Amino acid sequence: MIWDEATTFEFEKIDRKTPVLLVISATEQHGPHLPLATDRMIGEHFARSLHNKIPNDVLILPTVAVGCSGHHMDFSGSLTLSHNTFMCQVEDLVNSVVHHGFSNIVLLNSHGGNQAVGQVLVEKLGARYDNFNIVLATWWKLAGEGLKALNEGGTMTTGHAGEFETSLMLLIAPHLVKTDKFEKGKHSKTYTWAEGDMLQPSKISLYRSIKQMTINGIYGDPAMASVEKGEQITNIVVQGLQQIVSDIKAG
Ligand SMILES: [Zn+2]
Repeated sequence: MIWDEATTFEFEKIDRKTPVLLVISATEQHGPHLPLATDRMIGEHFARSLHNKIPNDVLILPTVAVGCSGHHMDFSGSLTLSHNTFMCQVEDLVNSVVHHGFSNIVLLNSHGGNQAVGQVLVEKLGARYDNFNIVLATWWKLAGEGLKALNEGGTMTTGHAGEFETSLMLLIAPHLVKTDKFEKGKHSKTYTWAEGDMLQPSKISLYRSIKQMTINGIYGDPAMASVEKGEQITNIVVQGLQQIVSDIKAG
């Protein structure tokens, strides 16, 4: 079910045990080859794919399309919310969902910059509604081991606008992928303990703006992307989401 496609009277009949899924995403630069909407489109793609499999067992909310992207603002077109505004927005949406009687809520995150604030939200909302299931799922963490098997570029190649995100966009919106603009990430090294990507999180957190780190906005190599890889990633992520939704509904 899609939250805003139901009428208010149809809505009354929805089972309140149904898990409610909110995509939290971003609108920001993704190098010279991917659109600003990449994270939103990826998050909505996973939500839609899950919904196609179990339309009566999940309720999809309207997406939070702008996230915490302060570190991308040196690139033209990127949008950001402050951490406080983002938290208030998600909190207010979750409070609305709870107001209507739901207690199983999944925040599906598709943006690196939302991870820390997402964790704070889970802790705040989890404490407020302490017998509810409030879950944060960041797709590349959820896919974890399955993604490692797909990685062809080697270590530190799976970051922003690289192999995985480009594969998904080739599947979701090939008309928006500029394959003639593929180039390797031009990123500089910081400290070894601060290096990380989707598969290997850094040991220590260190803030850098993306422009300081990579002049073309890419980590890794989009040439390693393929539609097939996009399909495989989708299968792994949707399977993981289906498990979460089914587990929390069962209580
Ligand atoms: Zn992205």
